[in-house]
Amino acid sequence: MSFFILLPQTTTAASTQIMLDNQPIEGAGDVMITNQTTMVPIRVISEKLGYNVKWKKSDQQVTISNPSATIKLTVGQSNADSTRGNVVLEQSPFMKSNTTYVPLRFVGTEMGLKVKWDNTSKTVHLEKVTAGPDTNNGVTPDPNSTTIEGISYSDNRLMISSSDKVNPVDSVLTNPNRIVIDLPKTSFGAGFLQGTELKQGEVGTIPVTGSADVKQIRYSIFSSQPSQVRVVIDLNQSKSYKLYQQNDLTFVDLNTTATTKPVGSGGKKVVIIDPGHGDTDSGGIGATGVLEKNVVLNVGNKVAALLKKESQIDLIMTRTDDTFIPLDSRVKIAEDANADVFLSIHGNAAPNKDASGTETFYADTKRSKLLSDIIQKHVLAATGFKDRNSKQANYLVIRKTTMPAALLEIGFLTNKTEESIMVQDDFQNKVAQAIVAGLKEYLNIK
Ligand SMILES: [Zn+2]
Repeated sequence: MSFFILLPQTTTAASTQIMLDNQPIEGAGDVMITNQTTMVPIRVISEKLGYNVKWKKSDQQVTISNPSATIKLTVGQSNADSTRGNVVLEQSPFMKSNTTYVPLRFVGTEMGLKVKWDNTSKTVHLEKVTAGPDTNNGVTPDPNSTTIEGISYSDNRLMISSSDKVNPVDSVLTNPNRIVIDLPKTSFGAGFLQGTELKQGEVGTIPVTGSADVKQIRYSIFSSQPSQVRVVIDLNQSKSYKLYQQNDLTFVDLNTTATTKPVGSGGKKVVIIDPGHGDTDSGGIGATGVLEKNVVLNVGNKVAALLKKESQIDLIMTRTDDTFIPLDSRVKIAEDANADVFLSIHGNAAPNKDASGTETFYADTKRSKLLSDIIQKHVLAATGFKDRNSKQANYLVIRKTTMPAALLEIGFLTNKTEESIMVQDDFQNKVAQAIVAGLKEYLNIK
């Protein structure tokens, strides 16, 4: 019952529009006006604006960050921590139907956006302020500043994505068999370490299932002065491999047919599967507490298992474990790989518990509508949920990618019935098969 206490009396659902750099943020939805303050669900902050959002349930605290600023807000509290110190909010964050609402103007301003309110059209205009030529103060970047933004394993291939070029040093060790990849002058990106705070010598693990060769992937900060990340592939048996790089992606390919040619060589189509959220960014929280990040990772890994058998598709996963990859890094992985198709997989959430159905989004009509239409058709047939259609929206990962890109919302986790179906293994298999069928139809692969 706590939300009756926390939800301020003057709250009304609003038809307020949000524009980012003069582009409407479609589907931002569920904007509330409270005491004349525009309040938005935190998923708008993470998915539409692309900032890192960390939710600490025990403290009811939201941490929002980008590379230059961090703010901390607490449900029901009018004080917030910002890079400027402690500040008083126009309106405290509140919870409504399992969704945390935060004041848009405050968050936007703190994250470095210009925020303007047009009262006639009831529109919030957000503008990215471009840094002037003299903001760098002549400071040269730290030579150790190359960061590891993501590590995933799919298609018998390890992928390491970094902010810049890395010079990997690989070696083979036995007893037990393993491949060691050292990445001199690198550290982990802030996003990757959300919630893990890996210190020197500590080890993170990516479980690998269904591989005859690979047991697991481990990663650690091998040394801190100079900073060096080490990634280890633990093998079941000794295995040859090829190491190659494409832009800022480093691949360790264990396929017997592996060459050192870039991904997609030999006429293969490069497909990026992007399970949304991860780590401390749980995504939507279901009616009984099922976390979106887990459902979409399961579906993504099932898609990966199916695509492994497709000889004409070269698959890259943005994540294959419970790590968080910043949205811009997901885009960068796709761009660095010169991907042919990008598909982000999500589960929906809404304050209205009755909201239901499957929907797929595209950002650009010319480039991506066909992909979105085809994915929607196949997945809808698999879910049997209400048809919410293939439609336009400005989610960051589909707006910034330059290849055909779509974002699938399988169903509503906040709908108790759909949540109970979406956690089922059989259902997830069916959805994964439908996604693969859709991708193959779009890519014209028989
Ligand atoms: Zn999502």
